[in-house]
Amino acid sequence: MQYDVLIVGAGSAGLSAALTLGRCLRRVLLADGGPPRNEASLGVHGFLSRDGIRPAELLRLGHEQLRPYETVEVQAVQIESITSQGRGFLATGHGTADDAPAHITARRVLLATGVSDILPPLPGFRELWGRGVLHCPYCHGWEVRRQPLAVYGQGRIVTGLALLVSRWSPDIVVVTNGPGHLTPNARRRLRRHKIGICEQPITRLVGAPNGSLQRIEFTDGSQLECVALFLHAAQHQRSPLAANLGVRMTSKGAIWVDAGMQTTITGLYAAGDTIPGTQQALLAAASGSRAAILINESLTREECPR
Ligand SMILES: Cc1cc2nc3c(=O)[nH]c(=O)nc-3n(C[C@H](O)[C@H](O)[C@H](O)COP(=O)(O)OP(=O)(O)OC[C@H]3O[C@@H](n4cnc5c(N)ncnc54)[C@H](O)[C@@H]3O)c2cc1C
Repeated sequence: MQYDVLIVGAGSAGLSAALTLGRCLRRVLLADGGPPRNEASLGVHGFLSRDGIRPAELLRLGHEQLRPYETVEVQAVQIESITSQGRGFLATGHGTADDAPAHITARRVLLATGVSDILPPLPGFRELWGRGVLHCPYCHGWEVRRQPLAVYGQGRIVTGLALLVSRWSPDIVVVTNGPGHLTPNARRRLRRHKIGICEQPITRLVGAPNGSLQRIEFTDGSQLECVALFLHAAQHQRSPLAANLGVRMTSKGAIWVDAGMQTTITGLYAAGDTIPGTQQALLAAASGSRAAILINESLTREECPR
């Protein structure tokens, strides 16, 4: 095997795993397939000692701090397939810069491939994503605190999110883009917290040149002025690798892992946003580091049999 560990994905989880494994003198290939999930955002918030750093700068620092660890190799490679081979894995892919084919063998594989967000197919959502259209008040609520906000969605999901966001602003309107499917109890809870409800279909979101939200326009010609819209976006795995390998997934589409962060395939691990749990950059980094420790311990057990 060329490597002890192939790490697929060089976001917070993958970079952190590479750092920990480099410090264990492990031969690591970190396959960097491109930008992270939060690429559109202006800043990573709530990351201890890096609060507000640009996403690209956080990753640049991660790469820079891998340099002293000569057993860690970073390649701009998109991994396209992984198969079990002997006591390890064979992965194939292509260089993202030069399209050169890559064939990699490794004793263990860590999937740190993240997720993609699925946005409503309405004008303005994709264009303002990460600036005026926000996914998480813990990440971006402080930046828009005490200002007029909208919360998008229907049913229980929008009710819970609107009540959560009310921690950051007293001026909130739930926009449901048609029937909101809100129970009488949900409507009562929203009213009690002075949260408005607008069930008019949306025509489009209108933003400022800097990407912040200015207003929401509705099909009846009415408008709602607000500086940001929060939503719980649906999401899917960024990479089909786990599904192609046939590993168990949770009902919500995350990669199932056991207490040792191993998938249902021995030697195949997963970390970061790909697995169940709260999704934040710092938590993804911690998850990558934990997976790395568990992988190193499993390799050590293999190398030092009883
Ligand atoms: C708009 C937005 C703003 C956010 N703001 C914040 C914030 O302020 N604070 C915060 O803590 N969190 C924030 N988050 C959440 C944060 O981005 C994620 O929790 C974090 O990026 C997860 O890290 P990860 O390493 O698991 O996945 P990612 O960062 O998404 O990294 C996965 C990497 O794997 C690569 N990859 C995928 N498939 C392959 C393949 N086949 N081969 C090679 N590489 C592959 C991808 O290109 C990507 O680089 C935000 C999210 C969004 C969407």
